[in-house]
Amino acid sequence: MDNAKVISKARELAARHLVRDGAAFSLADHDPADIWPYGPSGKDDAKELLAESTRVLSELQEMLYAQDRWSLLVMFQAMDAAGKDGAIKHVMTGVNPQGCEIHAFKAPSAEERDHDFMWRCTRLAPRRGMIGIFNRSAYEEVLVVRAHPELLRAQQLPAELVTDRIWQERFRDLCAHEQYLAANGTMVRKIFLHVSKDEQRRRFLKRIDDPARNWKFSEADVAERAHWDEYMRAYEDAIRSTARPHAPWAVVPADQKWYTRLVVASIMVDALASVDLHFPKLDDAAAARLAAARARLESE
Ligand code: ATP
Ligand code: MG
Repeated sequence: MDNAKVISKARELAARHLVRDGAAFSLADHDPADIWPYGPSGKDDAKELLAESTRVLSELQEMLYAQDRWSLLVMFQAMDAAGKDGAIKHVMTGVNPQGCEIHAFKAPSAEERDHDFMWRCTRLAPRRGMIGIFNRSAYEEVLVVRAHPELLRAQQLPAELVTDRIWQERFRDLCAHEQYLAANGTMVRKIFLHVSKDEQRRRFLKRIDDPARNWKFSEADVAERAHWDEYMRAYEDAIRSTARPHAPWAVVPADQKWYTRLVVASIMVDALASVDLHFPKLDDAAAARLAAARARLESE
């Protein structure tokens, strides 16, 4: 498949799942089991397109790196077992590791909690020419922290700053920071892997039953299911409040892993193809220097 075809398919898939304006966003409009435009037997076709998409992604990444102007930041958010790690692994396979950084954000350390809520993430935003992947992000501060009020109480914020406006204030600050990144050449994409509660249950059971997957199982993840509805409300409000044209969310159906991976690759291809990436062109003076270097080498 030629690159233009792959890019046009990526655009189509991205258009279906990107939320660029959150005003009317409702999670109920997004089916975790969606596999459009495929049918139940579409897995092989989707895998073929994924291979083509990762090839194109790696070519675009090479230009991104050589041109050294733009960067791409992709944040992943999801409930446990939605497939973040697998999606990152499959989509980034084939991309030059030197042009890509992956950071995972777990529960914050004491040092991290001593700073403003975005601090540990903002300092790791990708340099020009790079793709930065965040496995979880500062959005945890309006998701897990919202689902667990005790986490907010443990943040040592001055009491008068913790009002019922705090989530709106954090949305405002997340948006402002993303606008700032965009104005500095960093494209921002936020990916929510949208898995259903039933599918999460099936995956947890698999982790228990399959010895090779036991290490992935955590009892705490099962306990966390009790907060499912709070999480969904928090995700919906976060997406509604922070989806913007320059920093869209992608709500990626996550009940079928083969589809999730294809859509994630498509979101990245679509982002990189939206700017004019090209290898740097030599000006006349640089071309003359190259010719002189060639002449020297030849005369040795
Ligand atoms: P996996 O389970 O696939 O290894 P993970 O991203 O779930 O990956 P864990 O170590 O299981 O990694 O969990 C990290 C935990 O840290 C998550 O439950 C997440 O919600 C929590 N976390 C991340 N950021 C924050 C934050 N700012 N405040 C509180 N908890 C956070
Ligand atoms: Mg986990």
